Amino acid sequence: MAHAAVRLWVGLVITWLALSGAAAAQSCGCNPLPSEGIYGGPVPLTLTHLDGDDETCPTRVRVHLPRQGAPDINVVLHCQPGENTWTGSEPSPFGAAFMYILTPEAPPLDMASGGYAAQLAGARAMAETVSLLMILPPKLLAIGKSSETHTFSLAGEFQAAECICNKVKEELDWARTMQSAYSDTDLIAQALAAGIRGTRARENFWMDDARQLHRFDPANHEISYADQVSAKVSAEYGGVTTPGKIVPQSVKAATTIRSPGDLEPGATAQVSPTTCKIKLKSPAAVVKECVPDIVVKALFAHESQHQRLCQTLNVPSVYKSPDGEEVNWRDGITGPYADGSPAPLSGYGAWSQNPSNHSMDEAAAYAAEASVLQNWLDAHCS
Ligand SMILES: [Zn+2]
Repeated sequence: MAHAAVRLWVGLVITWLALSGAAAAQSCGCNPLPSEGIYGGPVPLTLTHLDGDDETCPTRVRVHLPRQGAPDINVVLHCQPGENTWTGSEPSPFGAAFMYILTPEAPPLDMASGGYAAQLAGARAMAETVSLLMILPPKLLAIGKSSETHTFSLAGEFQAAECICNKVKEELDWARTMQSAYSDTDLIAQALAAGIRGTRARENFWMDDARQLHRFDPANHEISYADQVSAKVSAEYGGVTTPGKIVPQSVKAATTIRSPGDLEPGATAQVSPTTCKIKLKSPAAVVKECVPDIVVKALFAHESQHQRLCQTLNVPSVYKSPDGEEVNWRDGITGPYADGSPAPLSGYGAWSQNPSNHSMDEAAAYAAEASVLQNWLDAHCS
């Protein structure tokens, strides 16, 4: 028993020595970060971030725990890139150091996450549970003492790392900017006056709340109202703070709902106007871009808003054509003809062609997204 434990210990020490030198210089990838706060467990554990700023996430944390009959444990742990562990050591009177390996655990997936569990699992979380392995020096192992792992969970409030708070703030800023652009009544009025379509520049019809289809005046518009909003926002954003990362993708995402299949190039999420299915960026992309889990949740809240409306407007699948005839949408792929012109693909698709409708829909979706982000920031960031 003791022999096996010693071997384990030797293996871990080698890993740690090989990596600890590099750890301080690098960031630690996208593994879960342990949150700052007081954790409950066999004894209270206090965890503090020792470095990190707006841009760079912490690479060192301090853990402090009371220890029976001996000085408190008070040790600095370094992150190990790619290892999802934080390690440190503490001198001991037993000929070798005590070693500590802390593993932050991703929060459990919530019940509402069925549609995006894979994205959430790949996203970067602020951990609220950690396990701490304390490895004893060989001398203690040799006399039958054993290394121990304990689990600690935050009981109350936690403070997120600044780097994550900053990323979430950028997303919130973006969502609020989009929400306000979609609430710009001048832009809506101009689009309505010019006969510009909501989301698809060349659509022939739009549907009102009573499921009546209306014909647009024929016009060769190159852009939609959604394109106008995107252009306005990207112009505003272009001159200001940190464009480049989120902006181009979300600008493209704002033009959503063109094809029922894949995500628009660069889009972060979309809802198919025919099936009402939500499509988020792939789990692999979430991992690669280190997207915070709360941002994934917020994007899903945004798309859920669209989805609810889509389901209401697509079922029943009946509408009145401009001449008063009752028509059934054909399932998906190609729209039926009305007055000799191809009609939109679905009720939601048609309803969205009225700029006023589309503006309400997007403003509500960005509001839902912003509120998820704002609530999280209020709770976990200063
Ligand atoms: Zn949207």
